[in-house]
Amino acid sequence: MRVYLADLGHNQLTFSSDIYPIGAANLAAYTQAYLKSPKPVELRLFREPQDLRAAIDSAPPDVLALSSYAWNHELSKSFARYGKQRNPRLITMMGGPHYPLTIEEMASFLEGMPEIDVAVRGPTYEGERAFLGAMQRLIDVGGSLDGLLEESFPGSDWFDRKAGTFVRGALIPRMDDLDEIPSPYLTGWMDPYYESGYFPMLQISRGCPFTCQFCNSSVKENTKIHAHSVENVRQDLLYIAERVKPELPVCFADDNFGMYERDQEVAEYIAHLQDKFGWPRYIRTTTGKNRADRVIKVMRTVRGTLPMTSAVQSLNPVVLENIKRSNISLDAYAEIQKEVQAQGMQAYGELILSMPGETKASFLKAVSDLLDSGVKRVSAHQLMLLHGAPLSNPDQRQRFGLHTRWRVVARNLGNYGTGEDVVEVEEMVVETPTFTFEEYFETRVFHLLLTIFYHEGNYEEAFEYARHHGIKPFDLVMHLQKTLASAPPRFRQVIEQFVTESRDELFESSEECTTWARSHFAGLLDGSIGGNLLSKYSMLGRFFAGSEALEFLGTSIRSVLRERELDGQSPGLESVIGYLRAIMLHTPFAHSLAASPTWTAEFDVEGWRDAGYAQPLEEHRFGKPVEFHTRVDDAKRALILSRIATFGEHPAGLGKFTRTMFSRDFRRTLARAGEMTGSGQAA
Ligand code: SF4
Repeated sequence: MRVYLADLGHNQLTFSSDIYPIGAANLAAYTQAYLKSPKPVELRLFREPQDLRAAIDSAPPDVLALSSYAWNHELSKSFARYGKQRNPRLITMMGGPHYPLTIEEMASFLEGMPEIDVAVRGPTYEGERAFLGAMQRLIDVGGSLDGLLEESFPGSDWFDRKAGTFVRGALIPRMDDLDEIPSPYLTGWMDPYYESGYFPMLQISRGCPFTCQFCNSSVKENTKIHAHSVENVRQDLLYIAERVKPELPVCFADDNFGMYERDQEVAEYIAHLQDKFGWPRYIRTTTGKNRADRVIKVMRTVRGTLPMTSAVQSLNPVVLENIKRSNISLDAYAEIQKEVQAQGMQAYGELILSMPGETKASFLKAVSDLLDSGVKRVSAHQLMLLHGAPLSNPDQRQRFGLHTRWRVVARNLGNYGTGEDVVEVEEMVVETPTFTFEEYFETRVFHLLLTIFYHEGNYEEAFEYARHHGIKPFDLVMHLQKTLASAPPRFRQVIEQFVTESRDELFESSEECTTWARSHFAGLLDGSIGGNLLSKYSMLGRFFAGSEALEFLGTSIRSVLRERELDGQSPGLESVIGYLRAIMLHTPFAHSLAASPTWTAEFDVEGWRDAGYAQPLEEHRFGKPVEFHTRVDDAKRALILSRIATFGEHPAGLGKFTRTMFSRDFRRTLARAGEMTGSGQAA
């Protein structure tokens, strides 16, 4: 029997997921260890759609087991259809968290997927026992679909098309000890991935004690924490360290990394590997929502390679009650931010828009509070209704009056030779009784302005100047939004196009969205429409309309100073804006990299910044105006040009590579006239 396990991801426009296929590899290792079959069973694992297509064509499987997440559900279905065209006797199975919670929805979900024979369910995030059970039964009944579905069996559901009924298998208990799963690393299932560029992923523990209703980890059966032994995790980490490229991060699929005592033991072993192998230099995971003391200890142990995920999602008590989430106090949060910054790491805050009970005012206050606590970036995610998350159950939708629209999952589409264009779609909450559709767009614009101007410290000196005059970053961004009508036309157009495209990407139903996407497939594929709009338009605002953005920022600071009757006491503002104009690089980069503007200033802006903005800029006044020249370091120029050659000089390309660069990478170097050395420099 030939069994293909496929944890597919789109890869034409972007990689849906950048990690090793740990979920499917766990299933493979578990099945290989425990399946009893009189005849050989060939198990194969697939990540890339192209590889699966080639394998189906050359050696069609008997069983195709596909993972289902919000970002690959349609892709998996497309391959199930394709596989059945090639081999009508193919048995298709699907498993993963993308599965509804109510019986009625499960029935209609499966009824609507004739290409899927069996939904291998298992408890949340745990398909090993259920998949083994389905495979064992299939072998025991002689390999036929009719035999398999003759009667219900634990851990699997299906829709009986002849009888028109939904068949539900009994629930399977979760594993108390995750060491029951043989390591997919030590058994060699991950060996093909060390050269792939994907990131290795492990999981120390499964389960989450919290109950956030928008999340599919929050279901009751998932509350208890079950874990691997520390010894097994150590063995996996060592196996990876001996093989992986040291520049690649390690990922943990845990929901609350650092919150449990065993995480400290793992952290100590990671520190040992860092000494021995120089790996890992970055740990990607979700840190615990409680026990900040433990999380901080873990962060210290791994020497600043673990960023803290400071997700609060909302600070409104009504919302937190509605979604059954408890956050740490804002004071404790601010303490953590200090620790994170002391370790030289950036602290990020996360909120979700349009949560039940949230208002525009409470949302914006949360942004303001987070910025006051010291975070350098506040992500505002949109509320997605996920299968498997309680908030998407019909009663909760009704209770909270959630109005939704459908859109394409950014860049998750492609054509993989299955006979159709494949498009993933997602359902977003865009309106509630306390948050109107218009407020949804207004808040999106606020967030875009925050991203262009404040995130990554792009215009840090200007914001610090404003702060020294009593203007908080939040108030300044609010002012920018209020006065958008007076922004330079080129910058204003960026914002207007963002609003237009944000409206145009929303559809009443998934079918309408898919039809639109298929009729605009070429544009979506070449990036001329769609994509991650916030990223795309922040690139346009920052790099394509950079001069206009700076002009607008300067005018806005001036106007707030005027409102507060402080304009007479702010002689340094022109120096700050002039400094930023002289050093910031923008598109077209060939032109910008070649230019060497000069800057004459009365104030030492860089000296002020290097002194940590401790005193007002006015304390850093030169005796007389000083002329500066600018140039781009050769290494910086080469880096930018090579990234452009790889990703392209368009918003989607810039959106990709700027994520791994700092704002300082897009700045010229400054020196007093006569001080510069090196090729082509003015002196
Ligand atoms: S959002 Fe995080 S803390 Fe809340 S249930 Fe999900 S995994 Fe747990």
